[in-house]
Amino acid sequence: MDFAFGPADEAFRAQAREWLDGHLTGGFAAAAGRGGPGGEHEDPGPRRAWERELGRGGWIGIGWDTAPGAYGNRTASLTQQVVWAEEYARVRAPGRCGHIGEKLLAPTLLAYGSQEQRDAFLPGIARGETLWCQGYSESGAGSDLAGVRTVAERDGDAYRISGQKIWTSLAHEADWCFVLARTGAAGARRHEGLSFLLVPMDQPGRIEVRPIRQLTGTAEFNEVFFDGARARAAHVVGGEGAGWRVAMGLLGFERGVSTLAQQIGFAQELAGVVRDAVRDGAVRDPVLREQLVGLWAELRVMRWNALRTLGGADPGAPSVAKLLWGGWHRRLGEVAVRVRGALAAAGPGDWTAGAPYELDAAQRLFLFSRADTIYGGSDEIQRNIIAERVLGLPREARGPR
Ligand SMILES: Cc1cc2nc3c(=O)[nH]c(=O)nc-3n(C[C@H](O)[C@H](O)[C@H](O)COP(=O)(O)OP(=O)(O)OC[C@H]3O[C@@H](n4cnc5c(N)ncnc54)[C@H](O)[C@@H]3O)c2cc1C
Repeated sequence: MDFAFGPADEAFRAQAREWLDGHLTGGFAAAAGRGGPGGEHEDPGPRRAWERELGRGGWIGIGWDTAPGAYGNRTASLTQQVVWAEEYARVRAPGRCGHIGEKLLAPTLLAYGSQEQRDAFLPGIARGETLWCQGYSESGAGSDLAGVRTVAERDGDAYRISGQKIWTSLAHEADWCFVLARTGAAGARRHEGLSFLLVPMDQPGRIEVRPIRQLTGTAEFNEVFFDGARARAAHVVGGEGAGWRVAMGLLGFERGVSTLAQQIGFAQELAGVVRDAVRDGAVRDPVLREQLVGLWAELRVMRWNALRTLGGADPGAPSVAKLLWGGWHRRLGEVAVRVRGALAAAGPGDWTAGAPYELDAAQRLFLFSRADTIYGGSDEIQRNIIAERVLGLPREARGPR
């Protein structure tokens, strides 16, 4: 392993710390630790303002492949991106609501978009002003994404989009959505005839967002209905028919940086569960002790694995990382409620009053982490990828479609 933080990284760490200490104050400090997975509904106002604060500091887009300052963004090496993500997690800065634009769409525009598209959309993302959502999944087209049935028909210099997306995180907050839709016949392969369109969300009567309430009682994702919604023809990324290549490219932009930062949050959560276990005496149960130690050891393995593969071209690395962290986090949720014993079934709020139930940290962790082995590609799909692309096993049998 040749991963190490050098003097330039440590200087960068000092800068990052200084900036975070100086800006994570007042209302922003009150939003610290809020808005993470399962808490996306928390403090939307302060968190949107925090996005703009990050933008003013040049901290959005530090991993983009641009000249320094091209869109108002700082630029940083891969190790410095890790440093920023670590420092961000260390101070428990507010959960990002701009990550879909920054981490998914922007690198996609840099790789596949036209210069006009980059100039039109990257500055708003870098300033923390424009929020995006991801319009891929449909009922019947989740793991099997090539099955999307949403249609975009050319109409002069625009497209008219009709169909329905589902599980669209943050669609209720987003200004824009990138939509994978069918613009042509499937041809010999179902991946053909798809396009990647940039669609403004503010289209009353043509776009309707309906929240989906989750096990946690909150609604971070939505159904999105398109009924003749418009997208400019100039806003098709990569050109008509290139949607599959662009959509898959977007999914490949995670290079391990956010996984490493996520592990700092995981370590904080594990420490909280250990504290509860010591306080309430659950730690005297030998089985629970063993589970807690096992979780700690697995977290160390995850960190070394992420460092080992950081930024590399190992085709299995993202799938292995996803399998490791998704399963680990789900088990942490299970151990967290086991530590609480029967009390874990009682909510802190007055649920008898018919109000939406309140959850404490352990309950929310348990319930939300059920989703961790599904979103971003389910465990089964990750195993298929490893089987076919890494181990070279035969492709799975597919029935007629
Ligand atoms: C919290 C959360 C946030 C999300 N946010 C977004 C978002 O912002 N935008 C978006 O577009 N989508 C989003 N999704 C959707 C997510 O991408 C899909 O849920 C995921 O791709 C699985 O698709 P599906 O739900 O249709 O399940 P299906 O694809 O129907 O799968 C059902 C089950 O069958 C298994 N399965 C399917 N195919 C195979 C196979 N070939 N081999 C073996 N097993 C298989 C799956 O593993 C799963 O267990 C989100 C999901 C969650 C849970």
